[in-house]
Amino acid sequence: MSLAKSLFLGGAVLVTAGCASSRSATSTEAPHGQLSSLSVASSPNAELCEHRVPRETCTRCNPHLVEKFKAAKDWCGEHGVPESQCHTCHPDLSFDPLPALAEGADLRRLSEAGEDVPELGSHAVKGKVTVFDFYADWCGPCRSVDAHMYGVLNGRTDVAYRKLNVVSWDTPVAKRYLGGVPNLPFLIVYGKDGREVARVTGLDLDALDKAIADGGSR
Ligand SMILES: [Zn+2]
Ligand SMILES: [Zn+2]
Repeated sequence: MSLAKSLFLGGAVLVTAGCASSRSATSTEAPHGQLSSLSVASSPNAELCEHRVPRETCTRCNPHLVEKFKAAKDWCGEHGVPESQCHTCHPDLSFDPLPALAEGADLRRLSEAGEDVPELGSHAVKGKVTVFDFYADWCGPCRSVDAHMYGVLNGRTDVAYRKLNVVSWDTPVAKRYLGGVPNLPFLIVYGKDGREVARVTGLDLDALDKAIADGGSR
């Protein structure tokens, strides 16, 4: 994953506008690093610490982990925490557990670890709006999409949610679908007629809701 691309994750505007001011004032050490999955807990129900991070991965609770994050270049020099734990640089970052899914909620995982999915059309569910969600564990805003979609799925049964874990920018599924995509999350929405309605790049829940509404009227 390139540094340039990783800096866009979590909202290009927020990272560049929020932190650029101090960039020139900082010494040779890069003020910001790249996001990694080191902050992801080993279990979805892991306890969060007072820093709103899984306690087991929090560097403020476990200072011995600092070197591991720095070695992975996952370090925010400006705020002294891993980039993947920096709520200041990434306001969308959330490790909160997702709500429980209601029975009948239609969620499936098409790519568990970056393996290729040659085409999406055959996975679109006729009669439902299908949301294909390209995400990665290190992508904080992707969890906001999850939380939003879980709410949608719990409210209606005519929406299908299909998740594709791209893992990195270099996996087969990422190479096939993310070529021109500057940041995650990335969503492709198909209508009830089985045809593509819209693509949503970055965290834009209003655009996602509009795409789902448009897809439902076809
Ligand atoms: Zn902590
Ligand atoms: Zn920061």
